[in-house]
This record gives sequence, structure tokens and C-alpha cells, in this order.
Amino acid sequence: ISMRNALVIGNWKMNGETAANHTLVASLVESLEVSPVGSVEVGICPPAVYLHSVGLQLEGSVVSLGAQNLSEHNAGAYTGEVSAAMLRDVGCHMVIVGHSERRSLYHEDDEQVAAKTLAALRAGLKPVLCVGETLAQRESGEALDVVARQLCAAVSGLEADEFERLVVAYEPVWAIGTGKTASPEQAQEVHAHIRTVLVRVAGVAGQNVQLLYGGSVNADNAAELFAKPDIDGGLIGGASLKANDFIAICRAAA
Ligand code: PEP
Repeated sequence: ISMRNALVIGNWKMNGETAANHTLVASLVESLEVSPVGSVEVGICPPAVYLHSVGLQLEGSVVSLGAQNLSEHNAGAYTGEVSAAMLRDVGCHMVIVGHSERRSLYHEDDEQVAAKTLAALRAGLKPVLCVGETLAQRESGEALDVVARQLCAAVSGLEADEFERLVVAYEPVWAIGTGKTASPEQAQEVHAHIRTVLVRVAGVAGQNVQLLYGGSVNADNAAELFAKPDIDGGLIGGASLKANDFIAICRAAA
């Protein structure tokens, strides 16, 4: 029997504006208040400029606030960047780290992802560390190795107690925003491998790390993915922008 709560996180990416955000958040908060999802943890990650206002709207609700990215540096001459302490200051509890779009479009490498993971943890944030293989890597049979390499690169420098706040999201690149979901069996295979690696690195603490699946999760496919033993919830992109779909996905995790 697992001690892990289910966790569903919405990644809004670069979408939203003040009025629409307000409507979306109001629907989500109201739905979860009227009909709670029990021990399922729910988070949303708006663009950085909206963190403060969305955070104020989430006050007193069960939904927690997260960011989509952070700087690995503490402060100083890093124009355009946002630090972990700033994210904490505006009410964030978590932050997505190493999303495949950051890795591919902004050239974040394993070393930078590791530094960001550490910066998040040391500031008291939960890093949601994203790992995942490309289609070419899957087709050449490298998926498990790629994911293990990305994972080890990011967690090998962590202290034992830091694993208690780590979240890992398996997001196959070929499934993100494509409408192609990994089958529950494909996802479970990788999640089981991630679990094995985590336990090897962190001992029992590795058993308690929440492992999310991400990649075209929607209201129709969420339940069968979340039913797998090592899939503790989801990181949701497109479907997190539609209140009813995101709420249905949160309910599928209950
Ligand atoms: C994501 O961006 O983390 C993601 C999983 O996107 P989508 O759900 O749209 O595939």
C-alpha cells in the first residue's frame, strides 16, 4: 500500500490573460469546494507574470500554485530571470524543472536542470522534474536509458531528505501536445524503471516520490493511466486550460 497521494498539476505554458485566468481558476476552485477530491493534491502553473494574482485567488483553496521555470541562480545580474526565493515570495509551492520545451527550445542541459532542481529544493519549493525520451530514442530502444540518465543527472547531488519534496514527471517528448498518449502499459514500464532508479539512489525515500505521467492526458484517458501502480497522477498541458477537462482529470485521480 502506497503512502503517496495522487497529484495532478496543470501546466498552462504561455497561455492566458487576466480575465480568462480568473474565470478558469474560479471554476476550478468552486468545483473542488462543492465536490472535494479527497487526498488528491491539485496544482496549477500559470505564466510567471500571473503567479501573484492567481496566487491571491487561490488563497484558502485546496489548489496550490506552481511556476513553470526558475533560475538556478539566487540573485543578481540575470536579466529576465526569476529566482526560487521570488517564487516562494509570491506563494508558489512547486516549480516545473526541465520541461522538454525548456530542454529543446532553450537548450537547458542536464547540468542546468540539476542546478535548477537544487535551487528549487533549497528554497523550499517542490521541483517537478521532467524527463522523457524523443520518438527516435524510443524507436531505437533507448527510452529507459535516456530517462534514467536524465533522472540521475538531476538527483545524484540531492541529500536524502530532499527526496521527500521531489516530484518526477515522465513526459515522452512524442506525446507532449501531439494528441498521442503513451499507453498505460508503456507509461507504467517507464515509471517502474524510474521507481527502481530512485530507490537505488535514495533508498526508502524513493518509494514515496510522486511520479506523474504527462503527454496528451485528457478527460477520457486519465483514469486508465492513473490506475497503474507507479503512476501517481499527471502533468497536464492543453487540457489544463479547460476547466471542465482539468476538473475531470483531477477527479479521475481520486
Ligand atoms: C506538458 O506540457 O507538460 C504536457 C504534458 O502537455 P500536453 O498535456 O498538452 O501534452
